[in-house]
Amino acid sequence: MLSQPAESPSARGVIDALRRLVGESHVLVDPAERAGHEIDWTGRFQGRALAVVRPADAGEVRAVLRLCNEAGIGVVPQGGNTGLVGGGVPRDGEVVLSLLRLRDIGPIDPVAAEVTAGAGVTLGDVQRHAAAAGWAFGVDLASRSAATVGGMIATNAGGLNVLRHGPMAAQVLGVELALADGGHIERIAAPHKDTAGYDLAALVTGSEGTLAVVTRARLRLVPRMTARAVAVIGLPDTAAAVSLVGRLQARLPSLVAAELFFEPGVELVVRHAAGRRPFEAIAGAYLLVECADLASPLDDLAAALSDEPSIVDIAVATGASDRLGLWHLREAHPEAIAREGVPHKLDIAVPTGRLADFVAMVGPAVAAVVPAARVHVYGHVADGNLHVNVLGPGPLDDAVDDAVLRLAIELGGTISAEHGIGVAKVAWLSLVRGADDTAAMAAIKRALDPRGILNPGVLFPVG
Ligand SMILES: Cc1cc2nc3c(=O)[nH]c(=O)nc-3n(C[C@H](O)[C@H](O)[C@H](O)COP(=O)(O)OP(=O)(O)OC[C@H]3O[C@@H](n4cnc5c(N)ncnc54)[C@H](O)[C@@H]3O)c2cc1C
Repeated sequence: MLSQPAESPSARGVIDALRRLVGESHVLVDPAERAGHEIDWTGRFQGRALAVVRPADAGEVRAVLRLCNEAGIGVVPQGGNTGLVGGGVPRDGEVVLSLLRLRDIGPIDPVAAEVTAGAGVTLGDVQRHAAAAGWAFGVDLASRSAATVGGMIATNAGGLNVLRHGPMAAQVLGVELALADGGHIERIAAPHKDTAGYDLAALVTGSEGTLAVVTRARLRLVPRMTARAVAVIGLPDTAAAVSLVGRLQARLPSLVAAELFFEPGVELVVRHAAGRRPFEAIAGAYLLVECADLASPLDDLAAALSDEPSIVDIAVATGASDRLGLWHLREAHPEAIAREGVPHKLDIAVPTGRLADFVAMVGPAVAAVVPAARVHVYGHVADGNLHVNVLGPGPLDDAVDDAVLRLAIELGGTISAEHGIGVAKVAWLSLVRGADDTAAMAAIKRALDPRGILNPGVLFPVG
């Protein structure tokens, strides 16, 4: 794999060839222009790119891949660069392939309930496009203004509404792919129900840019619910929040979100992100629930909560700005934590019956290896998915990562629920995937990317 300074003769030749393919202004070699593409959202992962290349369409994407494959140059696909495991930023001299110019979005098909969007369309644009036609998109993330269709497919993004609509995998109906050697797979126009052969859209979903580059996707839409109610519920502890979510799931078909957070996180959001406390009382755990329906779900929500004895306090909102105010308490956690330093972000899941154990055990587990570290936890209750943010250790000190990931495994869980493995968790993948499992993944990788140019170092160790 080529890894040379951009000034070397062979690198200069590749850069000139890239310029001929996509135009001079879309090959960024100037360090200042590359900079934002070379560091991740957290600031923990960064590296040097040979160049950042911005193709205009799928044909140019394929041409860039063909060139890099022939030259043996690593390619890092990049969408909105909101990924949290270092998979979308270069390691050492790769070409960053930015998909942000692939922004076409088609008309909504109301019978099939679907839309086709380019890889570089942001989640926010998909949501607005769907809403304008009376539809909604089933995935929502706090990074909606920047996260792209391609990145969300590559990471199999989850987010805030998984309990109702499932993760990205449940929304992807078809894909158009550019292969490592410049080849082309198009499964865009197929009917919803298509059992003719391997489901390549499913294969590439969650593959983190290691198997192919997504250039377009056909996405499922869901009915748009116009009436919403949000409640932030103060509860004594995590166990109370988990058991309440169980009861609400059974009683409230309109439940679309159930998010957990804690007082230290609320304090940070108030301090750094203009958050406003939901109520005076300090609770052991905060549960945010949202119900969405065509008619107001408020009465159903109130009835479901009325006989809950453990509630410490509660704030409810139905109007748009008040709802956003409550959501801000949860959604601003990543931003508020980032204001305190560069976090280690660990995105684990455990069986829901072990969530409370995990929350109780993770602080001591981290303190045992880095006593001064600060731990902030929040997450999606129904998915058993907690985001563990550790502040204190340097970017390369992965002792806390090891402690947190092993604790999740010990409790029957997994090391990644939605962010992926990236470069951050490669060393732990074998703990959750057996030898035959890993060998099968490596064989698929070799079949689709024999020269190993697609996202080297992600999912598999380099070399
Ligand atoms: C504030 C904040 C909140 C977040 N909340 C959530 C959340 O609730 N749930 C969740 O799942 N994630 C969340 N994320 C993480 C992130 O937004 C998602 O992982 C998202 O899917 C990344 O999309 P992106 O376009 O930014 O991809 P990037 O960061 O650019 O890339 C991510 C990965 O996808 C690959 N990739 C990108 N585009 C393509 C393509 N077209 N073809 C092939 N591979 C590609 C990259 O190589 C990389 O491995 C959050 C991030 C932030 C900053």
